[in-house]
Order: sequence, then structure tokens, then C-alpha cells
Amino acid sequence: MLASVFSNLFLIVAQVFALYLLADFIGGIFHWAEDTLGSAEAPIWGRLFVQPNEVHHDTPGQMLKIPWYINNITIVIAVLSVFAACWVLDALTWKVYVMGFFGAWNQQVHRFCHTPTARLPPAVKWLQRIGIIQNARHHWRHHTEPHLTNYCVLTPWVNPALDKIKFWRAMEQIFVPIFGAPRRPDL
Ligand SMILES: [Zn+2]
Ligand SMILES: [Zn+2]
Repeated sequence: MLASVFSNLFLIVAQVFALYLLADFIGGIFHWAEDTLGSAEAPIWGRLFVQPNEVHHDTPGQMLKIPWYINNITIVIAVLSVFAACWVLDALTWKVYVMGFFGAWNQQVHRFCHTPTARLPPAVKWLQRIGIIQNARHHWRHHTEPHLTNYCVLTPWVNPALDKIKFWRAMEQIFVPIFGAPRRPDL
């Protein structure tokens, strides 16, 4: 009886952890697409996603000049849209809620990475220190030339694995012929 309680508990914890990593992975794919695919002048993709991303690369500290809720609103709307779509499809399970919850933190954790340490709440510093969320040093690798690694911003665990297996280079081989990458002369 006790053994089965523990094994069920272990299974749930393992699933929650996997969903946390998955939320980081999906956020990384979106960020890679923003950095890589299509033109900055494209009407929706370019204006809404590529251009703000380019501003962030040129002046990373700029994001702290806008309020945190403006920073987070797009991702929160995206997560709520996923919840709505899953509800329509009758697929709104606890796993969708958990992954959406973690996914919604992508941009805020990213913002913490750009916030001076002295201004971070102690709990955030602690989470960064023990490796639950990504820290500034880890994220700064993405802001270092040639900006082709470390696209995930939530955890410190997904980036090393993806960079090691050259996941992003494989993604470029698949998607650049379809969508084009005019901002990446190397492709
Ligand atoms: Zn980027
Ligand atoms: Zn950044």
C-alpha cells in the first residue's frame, strides 16, 4: 500500500518535472524561430515577434524599462489560448495546466536573468542558485556572439542537451528551406 503511494507520487513528480522541461523546450523553439526564420518586415510575424526580439538582442537591458506585466502579457495570452483550444478539443488535462503554468513563466524568468542581482527577490536568487530556474550567467551565453546557442530561457538543463546534439542546426536544415532566413546570411 505504502509502496504504491510512493510509486504514484514518484510518477507524478517525474511527470511534473518532464512538463517543466517540455515548457522550456517549447519556449526555446519559439525563440529560435523568432531569431532565425522570416523577415523582420513581415506584417505579423516580423512586427509582433521578430522586431521586439531584435531590440532585445541589441539592447538587452531595455526590457527592464517596460513594466513586467507588459513583458509577460503575450505569453500569458498564448498559454490561455492553448487552454481554450484544449478545452474545445476536450483535451484540457492536468498536464496541460501544469505545462501552461510553467510555460507562462518563460518571459518572467528571462526578465530575472536581466535584472541586477541586488534587485532580485531573495526567493528568485535562491531558485537561480540551486538551479531550478535559469540564471544570468547561463542566459548570457545566448547574448554572446554568434547568438546561436542557449535559446531556452526557463531552466539550466535543456540548453546543454540541445546544444550538444546540435538540435538547432538540424532545425535550420529542416525549416529554413521552407520559411527562409533572410537575417541569417550564414544559412
Ligand atoms: Zn535570441
Ligand atoms: Zn535575454
